[in-house]
Amino acid sequence: MNNHYKFQNPPLPYAFDALEPYIDAKTMELHHNRHLQTYIDNLNNILKDYPEFQNSSLEELIMYSDGLPMSVRIPVKNNAGGVYNHIFYFSNLKKTENEVLPATTKAYLDFSFESFENFTKEFTQAALSVFGSGYAWLVLDSTETLKIITTANQDTPLPLGLCPILNIDVWEHAYYLKHYNLRADYIKDWFRVINWDQVNKNLVSCLGYPYS
Ligand code: MN
Repeated sequence: MNNHYKFQNPPLPYAFDALEPYIDAKTMELHHNRHLQTYIDNLNNILKDYPEFQNSSLEELIMYSDGLPMSVRIPVKNNAGGVYNHIFYFSNLKKTENEVLPATTKAYLDFSFESFENFTKEFTQAALSVFGSGYAWLVLDSTETLKIITTANQDTPLPLGLCPILNIDVWEHAYYLKHYNLRADYIKDWFRVINWDQVNKNLVSCLGYPYS
């Protein structure tokens, strides 16, 4: 995909039904083809009238949204965040079968949270604690320690100087068709479809992250 205007919706790296029975095909189809598509369309529509920002990457639009004209600052932040957060969320999922946690990820999780079990407990708590719409994130900070944070709406960890490793979308559209209002059940099922090889790649690239 282009990482600048005009942004395009990259196809999911798996079939809509690949995450069944944990995340259902209809949810994945609507989430990708409608929700993510809307953020992409909105972002393109805003940038249409601002050729001076059409070469900016998604990350630049998020990081430097304060430099944008006042009238589009918030819409760009929200929609660029919506594009970034969803592409990141989808990229860290896959059909999994008794996967072994990659060694680097396991070592960092053990170091930062004492154990994998403790990490899942803390991450679940964080995801449950998001009031309204938002995300829970596993991020790497400037001391190369893994941390769990939450963000509201379509905010991202990028302006906080934190490098994203993994996120869970806890907007209701991410789970309502299958799990109804039971966010805890969705979180439990989401843990079954994490692409740990991709998470490990994210961690390795975050280790070289240019913290400012
Ligand atoms: Mn979503």
